[in-house]
Amino acid sequence: SNLFPTGWTGFNERGFIAVKPDGVQRRLVGEIIQRFEKKGFQLVGMKLVQASEDLLREHYRDLRDKPFFKGLVRYMSSGPIVAMVWQGLDVVKMSRRVLGETNPANSLPGTIRGDYCVEVGRNVIHGSDSVESAQREISLWFRPDELECWEDSSAQWIYE
Ligand code: GDP
Ligand code: MG
Repeated sequence: SNLFPTGWTGFNERGFIAVKPDGVQRRLVGEIIQRFEKKGFQLVGMKLVQASEDLLREHYRDLRDKPFFKGLVRYMSSGPIVAMVWQGLDVVKMSRRVLGETNPANSLPGTIRGDYCVEVGRNVIHGSDSVESAQREISLWFRPDELECWEDSSAQWIYE
């Protein structure tokens, strides 16, 4: 799509991050945003949304044959989600490290899932697993005019 001209990786890479319904209910939104801000990434889109089951089935379409798929869609539609787009160098890969492993039991302390949750079916946060899925997810959750391109005045203190 024209949102992602060729070359929009590296410094301009964008990733989709979502605080799941359990993260919102457990008041972890501020804490999670803070981790991405402090890391040095730039927030370019954010909204609180009650996702429809259709949207969630599309979002997780690669998992549709898994035994936990129905429960996953029920979990993800059980309350509002905070959907975000973060931008920065290698943001997709680095975000996955900030999140920890899919199963909180395998996530190290210091990661979001390592610090704030116990079960894979209540793992508080979503992050895109590749630049390609990030682009797909961003266009699924956001309209182009919901993303803000703003000059990052601290860029010279974050990038050499
Ligand atoms: P992620 O990219 O780390 O979120 O992991 P996946 O893309 O593999 O799975 C998507 C989401 O489905 C996970 O974050 C979990 O919430 C859920 N999930 C994955 N595997 C399991 C499982 O074995 N059991 C249950 N109940 N949920 C799972
Ligand atoms: Mg995934």
